[in-house]
This record gives sequence, structure tokens and C-alpha cells, in this order.
Amino acid sequence: MAVRSSSPSSTAAARARATAAAASDADGAAGVRKGGEGKGKAPGGKAASARSSNGKAVAGGRAVAGGKAVAGKATAARTTVKAAAEGAARARAGAASARRAGPRRRAHKWVYLFEQGGAAMRDLLGGKGAGVAEMTRAGLPVPPGFTITTEACNEFYRLGRQFPDGMWDQTRAALTTIERKTGKRFGDTDNPLLVSVRSGARFSMPGMMDTVLNLGLNDRTRDGLAELTGDERFALDAHRRFIQLFSKIVLGIDGDLFEHALDAVKQRTGAATDADLTPDALRDVVEAYRGIVRDQHKGEFPEEPLDQLRGAIGAVFSSWNNKRATDYRNYNGIPHDLGTAVSVQSMVFGNMGGDSGTGVAFTRDPNTGERRLFGEYLLNAQGEDVVAGIRTAPPISAMRDQLPKVYREFAAIARRLETHYRDMQDLEFTIERGHLYMLQTRTAKRTAQAAVKIAVDMVRERLITREEAVQRVEPRHIDHLLHRRIDPAADIRILTTGLAASPGAAYGKAVFSADRAEEMARAGEKVILVRIETNPDDVHGMIAAEGVLTSRGGRTSHAAVVARGMGRPCVAGAEGARVNLKARSFTAGDVTIREGEEFTIDGSTGNVIDGTVPMIEPEISGELEQLLTWADSFRRLQVWANGDYPHDAERARAFGAQGIGLCRTEHMFMQQERLPIVQRMILAGSEEERRAALDELLPMQRSDFHGILKAMKGLPVVIRLIDPPLHEFLPSMEDLLVEVTRAEALGVPEEEYAEQRRLLAAVRDLREENPMLGLRGCRLGLRYPEIIEMQVRAILEAAVQLKRERVDVRPEIMIPLVGHVNELMRTREHIETTARRVLGEGRVKIAYKVGTMIEIPRAALTAGAVARAAEFFSFGTNDLTQMTFGYSRDDAEAGFLLRYVAEGVLPVNPFESLDRDGVGRLMRLAVTEGRAARPDLEVGICGEHGGDPASIALCEELGLDYVSCSPYRVPVARLAAAQARLNLMADKR
Ligand code: PEP
Ligand code: MG
Repeated sequence: MAVRSSSPSSTAAARARATAAAASDADGAAGVRKGGEGKGKAPGGKAASARSSNGKAVAGGRAVAGGKAVAGKATAARTTVKAAAEGAARARAGAASARRAGPRRRAHKWVYLFEQGGAAMRDLLGGKGAGVAEMTRAGLPVPPGFTITTEACNEFYRLGRQFPDGMWDQTRAALTTIERKTGKRFGDTDNPLLVSVRSGARFSMPGMMDTVLNLGLNDRTRDGLAELTGDERFALDAHRRFIQLFSKIVLGIDGDLFEHALDAVKQRTGAATDADLTPDALRDVVEAYRGIVRDQHKGEFPEEPLDQLRGAIGAVFSSWNNKRATDYRNYNGIPHDLGTAVSVQSMVFGNMGGDSGTGVAFTRDPNTGERRLFGEYLLNAQGEDVVAGIRTAPPISAMRDQLPKVYREFAAIARRLETHYRDMQDLEFTIERGHLYMLQTRTAKRTAQAAVKIAVDMVRERLITREEAVQRVEPRHIDHLLHRRIDPAADIRILTTGLAASPGAAYGKAVFSADRAEEMARAGEKVILVRIETNPDDVHGMIAAEGVLTSRGGRTSHAAVVARGMGRPCVAGAEGARVNLKARSFTAGDVTIREGEEFTIDGSTGNVIDGTVPMIEPEISGELEQLLTWADSFRRLQVWANGDYPHDAERARAFGAQGIGLCRTEHMFMQQERLPIVQRMILAGSEEERRAALDELLPMQRSDFHGILKAMKGLPVVIRLIDPPLHEFLPSMEDLLVEVTRAEALGVPEEEYAEQRRLLAAVRDLREENPMLGLRGCRLGLRYPEIIEMQVRAILEAAVQLKRERVDVRPEIMIPLVGHVNELMRTREHIETTARRVLGEGRVKIAYKVGTMIEIPRAALTAGAVARAAEFFSFGTNDLTQMTFGYSRDDAEAGFLLRYVAEGVLPVNPFESLDRDGVGRLMRLAVTEGRAARPDLEVGICGEHGGDPASIALCEELGLDYVSCSPYRVPVARLAAAQARLNLMADKR
């Protein structure tokens, strides 16, 4: 069996059209074009026929698109992925036990006819297989076919890339059924059956795996096809495309060799485009292709259709583990052991005349969410022509006039599918001589704006419940909605305008390759990736970039789809920008932007703008407001925000924060005018000197606290006492050393650098080998209690003042980095002594709490004792993760950690998403023992994990009272908290 996984350059087929139409079709286009762009490919129609190496188009027609199928939801929500993966694992275990059960049991079922499957069988049949099965069962016109299961794929790998027992026999039997249904025969000279062989995993992996189209062609069947269609040229073109695609995907031959051979024949015959190739010229191309195969493959091209099928199935299985697919799964948190299904489907052709055509459509507008059929359609064309933009595809509404009966049928099917799936669908169809064929339905990808609008609209249309609406929108979608926009008042210079492909605005330095984008981003630069068009090999650059600009490709291009999925702003098809990849520049009008020069893109308008421009922060729309209000009604967890300044507090409150969970008071020390005073405080030779400096800081801190407490009136505000080691407020030792050494060497008079010397001595004195584990947090406060006193005084004096202004204040004083309860008790004594004094002076009563962070494992392990001295716990999961893993939070991510994640040593970055088994276990213990000691203990989280949906789900499980995150993540957290609650309740049921 000739099975080779495709080389990166042979990916056109898989890359093809694997994505969602507006979304998905795009990358299909990219795939197609990579295979043939710039070489004057056929302008559609029959001539272009089999060019579609893309998973979507078909020789002269299209078959079903490959491996996608997931609602925008599935790829991202790791919890969803995980749950589904567990389901799939159970299914695999079931299959394994069925296989072990011995000879008396019926052979394991590896192959399902479309009519035997259904929507619920995604694990086994992949999203695509399940989708066509469901349509078939619903009686919709679907070209007959069958799906080989994901289990078969896993078994294929287990057996060292061999088909499992019985699979091939079942495949042949299913093929016979298809022959019966279509009245065509595989390999038949008169009436040949041609099939597509497509990948399709449980989760959408757009364009990442391989697909083979027009399978079954050889000299004899080609002539049969020519006879049958009365179009010899079409049959020949389909044949040469098939050889080209099959050789690349299945035989692993470099696709460029075929392109060169094609170009040579074109040159020799004077054909300007593929479409100009005569039948005789195409015959030459076929022979030239066969020669390449003979050379490269050391054997003849497989002419026998069954051999072709065997090879293609193996190649599609193998493409599950190609590099692109593996990278994609790593990025999206999709398990590697799910496997892909393979769907084999009879081909239909959309380029058989004026009563044929093909298109892609969404049941709603995937950009705005508006309720109308949205898509593109071409008469007498194959799917590739639609997605590749070779011919300008008119909107789907054009079909109403051109083929009114088919349009009505299609519109009715679209409505029916949407109602059936109760979600927006992404449809592919082909019309072959007046017959409509549905090739695919899947939950459509959509922009964040559309996701929210559709969810809210569908509740209003009584199609889904409020709970479902809340569950339908991914938290990251909310994140996208909160993207920045260009300030409309800004004076901007528009260089050119492309398509508004993915909303949001971004600026950065121009880069022209994905690798360079990654490299510069790693060095801390903001970059915009500029390409003629993107393909799956560019994805890592898109991840690294702030935004993406392409000069070719539509709203459905790879760049558009992928950027939308990632929430990266994208302007696609900006033809006015002439991109020169070699020179690393692009020119729009008379302006040339070179690598490293800054420019701006606006993915909401399509504008490409010179230089950087002022941006404004987004607000919450009416629909989002509605959705979040529904979310609020389902969630139990409160959502607080981390904020250090009054404006943070105001923004957080506007986003719906119910408190401030962390005010890092030391940030206030960093302000330029305060730093010298802070340094004086640090360098003080005596307590007296230190107190003098602190007295200067007091009014400043008081005014900060006044602002925050006022902004959060009626809501709790957790203010943490100083945490970092003092040397952080002093200049770097390296810099000082250089200055002093230079001064000494140059013989500068000593008095001129005495201050630097003094600073250097102090920095040396305070320097620690492991400052993260050194004199910081409560240890620092206990060493210099005057600092605690000043901060507590500032907090309570601000509170007293506000109380007099009749503002309801709820300060909570938090002690950082407690490891032993005695540290907490002693700090607490200082706090209470100061509080008594301040409140006595002010002669008012202020209810305040004193609590602690739980960020050292020992504090978690002794939580019972700690809780007796604390009214609240706040998990500082940044430090708790650092200390539980023993990974330096400052170094690990730049060092080994991300590699650990990429290589699967760790499932996720534990600084991003809480480690359930370790850190989570400590948290569970602390919550249980803390609450046992003090039942009304308030418990929250203020580490970065507080805004991460998967971590929020854990916080819900642990029964925390609130999560606290950055103000912009508050809406995300509100939704995630609701989803966590709904999921937990569903699990309990
Ligand atoms: C933490 O450790 O999680 C925390 C919130 O404190 P910081 O990040 O300031 O150390
Ligand atoms: Mg901390």
C-alpha cells in the first residue's frame, strides 16, 4: 500500500477548503491557490475543473469539504474539547474491547454508510461524516457515500500503519452499495463512479489534513467520463488534476514538479492559461505527469481504482499526524489521540453547463449575525472557483433569478437545517444539471459580534433557551468584542483598503514571513504579518502577530478565517498593496512600507493606514449586555477585578465588577514623582529617617485609596500591603556598577558620583540570589513595621474621610506571602494597633476585614490555623503555581516552559490555566480546612488565572466566592462563571 504523509508542500488538498465557508472556504482557497496561483490557472468553468486540489472543490464539481464541522465553540473551549475527548476515549475503549471479544462476535464495524450515521456520532464519524449522515437521514439530497471511523484511524496507527482487520472488506462492500445507488461503477468504462476521499476529525481542523478528489480516474474511466459528459476536455483536465493531487498527497511527490511540467506544455502550445489547453495538450500533460511519477516514485502511477482508494485512505489517515495538524492541535488544545475519520463520497459536478453550479452559504451573516442567507455562488463552475476567487462569485441571491426553482429548494433546506441544528449552518452545495446536492452542513464559524447577536436573536426567535445562548458564546468571543478600535477623531492616512476580514484594529512593524513574525514578537516587538495570502504554514506567524494583512483572497480566505478564529484583526485581499516578499516591503500608491516600519490595519473597515494611530477601547453592545445579564442570572461566582488606580476601578465597575480583588499598592510607589521618596525610605539610615520618608508617601497613598474606595462605593476593595523586595525600587545594580566604575576610571571627582556609590552599596546590600523567595511580602512588613503602619493609616484615613462624605466603604486589608500563621498574626497586630489609633482619631467606626493571600503551599497546607487569624483568603495563584511547581514565574516562560507545553510534557502552561491536580488540590484543601475553621471565610482568587475560563470552572467547583481578574476580562469572566455553573449543575444532574 503506497501510503505517505504529504510533505508540507503537498498540502494543497488538505489545506484546501477545510475551513468554514465565509470562514472556512477561505483556506480552501488558499490551498488551491498555493498549488497553482500565479500560473494563469483556468478561469473557471469546465476548463478549471479538477484543479481543485483543495478539499472543497472537485473536478468540474465538488465533493464535501474536509475535516471541519465544529461549531466555532468546539475548538477553543478546552473543557468542551476535554469532555468530548473523554467521550471519544470511552468509545475507543469500547472498540478495543469489542475487538478483543473473540471470533464468535461479529466483526467490528469500521465503516458506516451515510444513512447509518447521525449527528450524535461525531466522535466516531468526525464532524463532517456526522453532518452528511444527518443530512442523508433527513432525506436531503446528498451524494451517496460512507465514512470510515476514527477508531479505524487509531487502529491503523496501532498496527503500524496497516488497515485493521475487516476494514477494507467493509469499504468494498460500502462501495458496492454506492455503485448501486448511483447506478455507476467504480472503474467502469461506460459509467464510471468517481469519489472524493476526505479527512474529518471530531474537531474542526481547517485545512490541516489531506483530501483526494476525482478518485477512480484512469485512461479508461476518463474516456467513459468524456463520453458521458460529452466533454473530452473536462475529462482530461480532471484526469491530470487527479494524477497531480494523488501523487502529491499519496505518493509524496513534490507538487512543484507537476506545476513545472504543466507550465512547459503551456509554453510549448502557447496556452496563456489552463483553460486554453487543448485536449491534445492535456493528453501531453497527463503523459508528462506519468513520467514524473515513474521517476520519483520508481513505479507506475496506480491505474487500478481500488489501489487508488486504498492509497488515498491510508494517506488521509496519515495526514492526522502531519506537522500542520499536530501544531494545530497543540495550539487549540485538541488531544492527539482522537484520530480522523475518512469520508468517501461520490462526486457531483457543478460545471456541466448553464443549469449547473456550485456555492457556499451561511444561514446567517457570519460577520454581523444578521438573519439572511449569506454566501457566494457561481453558475457552471466548480467549488474551487468560488473559494479561489478566480471568477468573481456573485452573492447567493443571484441564484434566485438564475435558477429560481433550485434557489427555493436550497433556501428551504437552509431553513430546515438551521431549525434542525438550532444553530447557524455553513452549507456547501453543487447543482449538477438542475439537481441540487447538499455536500456539507456544519455549525458555522462566526465573528464574536455575530456569535453574540445570533445567540441573543435565537432566544428571541424561541429557537434556543437563555441557558443555551449563554453556553453558545465562547468566552474568548467576548474578549474579541472588547478589541480596540481606531479613534474616529484621529487624523489618519489611508494607504489602501482591503476587505474587513476580522474585526479590531492593530498596529505594529511590518514583517513578511511567519518565522520573522515569530522571531520579532519573541523579542517583544509588535508586528503585523504581511503576506500575499496565507496558508496553514503561516499559522505560527499569525499567532505571533498583532494582525494580518494580505493582498489577495477574500473574506473567506485562509487569512480571514484563521485570524477571525484567533481574534486577530485582519485585512484581506488588499489588492492596492503590492507585496514584494523578496524585497520585504509593500507599496500602496506612492508609499512603500518596508520590514520594520510601523503601520496600522483596521480589520473592521479594511483600511490599511500609515504609521500608528490612536485607538479607543471598546464598549459593551446592547446584545452583549443582554447576554451578560442572562449570564449573571445563572452564575454563583462573583466577578471582581484587579486594579491599582481609580480609573481601573471605574472601568472594572462599568464592565460589571462586583469588587476589587487585588490592589497592588506597591504599583503606586513606582510613579516617577514618588520613586525618589520611596528610595529615600529604603536608603534611610534610621527608623526616624524612614518614617520621615513614609510621612511624605502617606498623603499620596491616601489619595489613591480614596479614589479607589470611592469608585467602588458599596463594594469590597481588597488592598494588599506592600509585596515585592525593596531592591525593585532601586536602579539596577549592573547600571550602577558601570556608572561608578566608569567614573572611577575617568578620575571623576568622588563627590560627583557619591550618590551612585551610595545607591550601589544599598542595592548590593539588598540583593538576594532568589528575591522571589526572599525579603518580600509580609516578611518585609515585619522587618519594617513602619511601612505597614503607613499603608494601614492611608487606607483607613481615606475610609474615614469617605465615611464622613457618606460614601459606603468596604476596605479589606490583605497580607501577602504568608507561609506561617505567626507571620499573619504578628502583621495583624500591627494593623490592628494602627487601625485603633486612626479610627480613634477619626472617631468613626469602619467595618474592615483583615485577610491573607494563599500563595505559599505551606499556607494552603495549614489553612485551618491560618483561617483562624484571617477573615478572608485570596489565592495568589501566580506565586502558588511558581512555588508548587518550583518554576520561576519570571524565567520559566521564556525558558523551558513553553517548550514543555509544545512537547506535551505539560498539558497546558500552568501560569495561564490552573493546574488542577497540584495547585488545584492545594486550593481544595485550603478551602475545605479554612472553611471548617471559619465557616464565613470569604475565599477568592486574584492570580492571573482569575480571568481564564478553565480556571474559573475549577474555582466554581471549589466553591470560591469570587474570581478577580483584570478589568477587561471581567465580561469574559462573567460569561465563563455562568458557563461553569451551568456545566456543574448539568454534571450533578
Ligand atoms: C499572585 O501571586 O498570584 C498574586 C496575585 O500576587 P503577585 O502576582 O503580585 O505576586
Ligand atoms: Mg503573589
